[in-house]
Amino acid sequence: MRIAVLALQGAFIEHEQALARLGVEMLEIRRLQDMKASFDGLIIPGGESTVQGKLLRELGLHQPLRQHIAAGLPVFGTCAGLLLLAGRIENDTRVHLATMDITAVRNAYGRQLGSFYTEADFRGIGKIPMTFIRAPYIAAVGAAVQTLAEVNGRIVAARQGMQLVTAFHPELNDDLSVHRYFVEMIAGAAV
Ligand code: GLN
Repeated sequence: MRIAVLALQGAFIEHEQALARLGVEMLEIRRLQDMKASFDGLIIPGGESTVQGKLLRELGLHQPLRQHIAAGLPVFGTCAGLLLLAGRIENDTRVHLATMDITAVRNAYGRQLGSFYTEADFRGIGKIPMTFIRAPYIAAVGAAVQTLAEVNGRIVAARQGMQLVTAFHPELNDDLSVHRYFVEMIAGAAV
C-alpha cells in the first residue's frame, strides 16, 4: 500500500512520520507530475485552507484530485484538509475540492478556544487524544455521512464512503489510531 500526502503547505511532515511509524510507503504530491505515480490513498494536512486551495488551483491539481476522489480514491483530511473536502463552508466565500456532503465552519472555536487539547471517543476506536488548532467543526452532515466523533456536541470527525475527515490533528500526538483507521479503511477492513 502506498499513501500520498499533499505537501503544498501546512503540517504534512507529521503525517509522513505517522505513516513511516506504521510502516506504510509514502509519496508527496507537490505538482501535477506527481499524480502520475500510483497510490492507494491521499492525506490532506492541516494548515491554511485558503492557501492550499489557491495552490491547488495554480498548480493544476484541483481538477485531477477532485476527479480522483470523486472516482473513489480514499482520502483523509485533517483540519484545513477537512475544509478543502467540505461541500459547504458556512463562513467562507469559496469551497475547494468540495467532494464531501458536510457543512463546515472555519475557525469555529473563537479566539479563546482557538487551540485546545481534549480526549474524546472516536467511533470504533475508543478514547483518543485530540489537538485542535484554529479548527473547524462540522455543522451539518448529509445522509451518506457517518459521524465518528463529537466534542461538546459538535461533530469533529466524519466519514462518507472512502472520505475521512477530522477537525483535530491526530498527526500531532503519538497515538496512531486514526492513521491506522485510514489504512484499514483503504484495505477495506474499517467499516
Ligand atoms: N484555520 C485554518 C483554516 O481555516 C485551519 C487550521 C488548521 O489546519 N490547523 O484553514
